[in-house]
Amino acid sequence: MTKSRKQNKNERKIYLDYAATTPVDPRVKEEMVQFFSEKFGNASQLYSFGQEAKEALEQSREQIQSLIKAKDPDEIIFNSGGTEADNTALKGIMLARWNKKNHLITSKIEHAAILNTCKYLQKKGIKVTYLPVNEDGLVEPEELKRNITPETALVSIMHANNEIGTIEPIKTLAEISHDYGALFHTDAVQTVGKIPVNVQKLGIDMLSMSSHKIYGPKGIGALYKRKDVRLTPLIHGGGHEKGIRSGTENVAGAVGFGKAAEIAQKELHEERKRLEQLRNKLISNILTIPETKLNGHRKKRLPHNANFIFKYIEGEALILRLDDKGIFASTGSACSTQSLRASHVLLAIGLRPEIAHGSLRLTLGRWTTENEIDYVLDVLPNVVKDLRKLSAFTKETEAKVRNLKHKH
Ligand SMILES: *Cc1c(COP(=O)(O)O)cnc(C)c1O
Repeated sequence: MTKSRKQNKNERKIYLDYAATTPVDPRVKEEMVQFFSEKFGNASQLYSFGQEAKEALEQSREQIQSLIKAKDPDEIIFNSGGTEADNTALKGIMLARWNKKNHLITSKIEHAAILNTCKYLQKKGIKVTYLPVNEDGLVEPEELKRNITPETALVSIMHANNEIGTIEPIKTLAEISHDYGALFHTDAVQTVGKIPVNVQKLGIDMLSMSSHKIYGPKGIGALYKRKDVRLTPLIHGGGHEKGIRSGTENVAGAVGFGKAAEIAQKELHEERKRLEQLRNKLISNILTIPETKLNGHRKKRLPHNANFIFKYIEGEALILRLDDKGIFASTGSACSTQSLRASHVLLAIGLRPEIAHGSLRLTLGRWTTENEIDYVLDVLPNVVKDLRKLSAFTKETEAKVRNLKHKH
């Protein structure tokens, strides 16, 4: 923020954007530090000093294996994060012309890491189908059945949406994919460490995850790849990570990610209940503000996610007002904020663009307190009221615009 922006009086800082990124847990940081200094060895070297790093790397792999219940630690491939994992899964299968098939199915509400990879693959001659979602943001299994063919190599549907929090029926979607001989990938960046994820029970072939969304460091993540799935690497070199991802291992990062996974697994159930309670308090109180609606499925949603539409206001203005009050939240997704376009997710659930602009996403996390929620509930109704007073877009102008559209 620029210097001229007013600071809130009491210097409160309430971070409610945990879906965008999370702070590194102090327990994670403590575990990492030694790998920048006394344990700096190269994990690929045979001498004991290198092996110490190697052992730490493998322990982290097991911690992540345990969190997602993979069969074998070797199915975890470390990389730079969720974006790379998504790229590796989609390009790695489609550019290898897996089983000589040329069709990929995804959904309209995926993260940009999937959608822009799909656009690139289309330029390379791959056929891509983007499944619609219903008004809750759910991909309906019937839609997949209608669109899948024997030509489909891969189906990639996210586990939970990063904006509206809707959790997709991926077990059913994976079963349908397998019935047609297609592989199933899921972007689980928003669910791993937040709700139980069991890749074997869900029948998943590939899964993307990221450390910085679960209180680990940025710039490290992993792709889970079932052992017998073969893919073409994006990065060639010394053959690290079973040849899938070459480059000297980011040992400190992996150790941080592993520790974050261990903590998430231990605390998952309690934390999920705690956040759900706080989140529900937030939702039920915010919905008492007039002309307000919850986006995403009421029950099948991430425990820490709340996403609203406030009619007749601009999300960008709302974010800046809340910032003045020391509350950090988001509207649409980070990239749609920059391009000032309505979020593709909100459009996909059927909102009109002018309505979709008035969205607010509040995502809670490990350090969110009831006090903070109460403060938000104290501040938000007045901020919304104020902005509506200033807005040129009102209930009355909305009715006029609709009448005009009907006449022409
Ligand atoms: C954050 C996020 C990503 C990108 O992960 P990075 O590690 O930041 O590259 C991908 N998919 C979803 C659903 C995300 O929320």
